[in-house]
Amino acid sequence: MNPYPTALEIAPDSRLAITWSDGQRRLYTIRALRAACPCATCREKRSQPADPFALPTLKQVQTEPLRIAAMQPMGNYAYSIAFSDGHDTGIFAFDLLRQLGEEG
Ligand SMILES: [Zn+2]
Repeated sequence: MNPYPTALEIAPDSRLAITWSDGQRRLYTIRALRAACPCATCREKRSQPADPFALPTLKQVQTEPLRIAAMQPMGNYAYSIAFSDGHDTGIFAFDLLRQLGEEG
């Protein structure tokens, strides 16, 4: 059986810590998780080339610390993660979560 999360917590530095069934503990920054969101909308956005003539912008949600609003299991293979910016359609499969973050 593939490793599955046995504990979720927000570490003191605001990173998400996942403890896995094989004993590994991985730390994830919330922004990196949000940037890796595997939903169709985010994948399409990432695949589009950036407009070279667009001036950079900073939206209000980007000026505030990004947090996880909720994290719910989907079946026994993934977690649905809702972010504090209102985005909640990302389904993070365990194998994706194992590739993201860093051991710590
Ligand atoms: Zn998404």
